[in-house]
Amino acid sequence: MKKQIANWGNYPVMESDEESFAFPDQLNQLLDEEADFIPRGNGRCYGDASLAQRTISTLKYDKILSFDTATGIFECQSGLILDQILEVIVPRGWFLPVTPGTKFITVGGAVASDVHGKNHHVDGSFSNHILDMDIVLASKKVITCSPQMNEDLFEASCGGMGLTGLITRVKFRLKKIETSFIKQKQIKARNLEELIQLFQTYHQYTYSVAWIDCLKKGEHFGRSILMLGEHARLSDLDKQQLRDPLQLPKKKQINLPFNLPSWALNAFTVKAFNYLFYAKNFKPEINNVISYEPFFYPLDAILHWNRGYGKNGFVQYQFVLPLEAKPGLIEILNRISDKGLGSFLAVLKVFGKQESIISFPKEGYTLALDFSVRPGLLEFLDGLDQVVLRYGGRLYMSKDARMKPEVLQSGYPDLGKFKDIVRKYNPEAKIHSLQSDRLFLTPN
Ligand SMILES: Cc1cc2nc3c(=O)[nH]c(=O)nc-3n(C[C@H](O)[C@H](O)[C@H](O)COP(=O)(O)OP(=O)(O)OC[C@H]3O[C@@H](n4cnc5c(N)ncnc54)[C@H](O)[C@@H]3O)c2cc1C
Repeated sequence: MKKQIANWGNYPVMESDEESFAFPDQLNQLLDEEADFIPRGNGRCYGDASLAQRTISTLKYDKILSFDTATGIFECQSGLILDQILEVIVPRGWFLPVTPGTKFITVGGAVASDVHGKNHHVDGSFSNHILDMDIVLASKKVITCSPQMNEDLFEASCGGMGLTGLITRVKFRLKKIETSFIKQKQIKARNLEELIQLFQTYHQYTYSVAWIDCLKKGEHFGRSILMLGEHARLSDLDKQQLRDPLQLPKKKQINLPFNLPSWALNAFTVKAFNYLFYAKNFKPEINNVISYEPFFYPLDAILHWNRGYGKNGFVQYQFVLPLEAKPGLIEILNRISDKGLGSFLAVLKVFGKQESIISFPKEGYTLALDFSVRPGLLEFLDGLDQVVLRYGGRLYMSKDARMKPEVLQSGYPDLGKFKDIVRKYNPEAKIHSLQSDRLFLTPN
């Protein structure tokens, strides 16, 4: 049935035939049809990666296939949502090896974007923890792949935005935890210089992320809050927490039922930032033990927060620059505050080394910024692309709705190899998306 669909940024919006399957033979029937398609998870990528005239949703293909509570090896169908996994694994003393800033994504989406979390510098991206997975090609052939088996398919499917085939089953390794709490340290940095210094000082922390206030100039340019965390041990918990050390967080969610004017969300996030920055007695450092939910998923508490950017939607701009390219970071933040097109808040993380053909992470600093869609924005972002490339960086396809093919090409030196593998497994380009058409990833 045709309906209007969009991903998390609500930009672009398109009419699409959304189909789904719950069993392999239903998927085969869908693949028997002539029409082209793109696999679709929970639509949490921001731009046009899972948009096409026909999408095949995995959301009903969501069973747990096995879970070894002794070894932490977990196997599921690809439409399972991370939130559902956490509910099963956390009470048994396990956690996701890597999680993005929302738990409302599917396992298939986690692989196809090769998602990263706040621990990339320690644990790498999601694909580092996969043992093996099944991919159904457009021809209906099922191929099992892993880092040791059909390696080319494995490599091009981790971060490959669904273009090789539809991932149906994933087996991966979980992380052992003693408690469901996080021992958190929050440190205020007066400016960007101080923040970078802090990232280096605390590099041994498993989880780290900073919120940067993009509006400040002068000596407070880049003032920020660095949030560091470790899974808490039993010895870190207070009496009340010790009553149920592996408890799941209480479900407290607010819903944004309709689109707000586009300034509203920025006003809200700035308030939240200022609260954290100035409240709590102006302490330069806070140490506490909190539930994993506010640490990993602070925005999930507001369902549909994306509506806060208004009906025109928004674009998230995420890039990575090599560690030594601090001047590039400064130039980009300066351009943003000068232009006043703001993103008032930016999220900064560190990536460790990663060698893969199409995954986004590579060693450096990654910054993510939100911009509501308005006249002049796309031209402004084209300008930022040039700065990113000049400093040897690249953009994240999972957040993208507008980059030009030459920007992708310059940022990803192995793009030719990726396209060759896509051509091998998806020779007629029956699988393609709005994004892959725009970026010439699949012949159209
Ligand atoms: C609030 C928020 C915070 C986020 N934080 C992070 C973060 O910290 N780190 C990070 O890396 N990402 C982050 N993301 C992005 C998100 O994790 C990815 O875009 C993820 O891929 C979305 O998964 P999904 O299930 O919603 O898939 P969709 O958005 O529907 O699809 C994403 C891509 O995966 C492909 N795909 C989906 N399922 C399959 C399948 N079964 N087989 C083959 N291809 C498939 C689609 O074709 C598409 O190319 C965040 C997103 C939001 C909304």
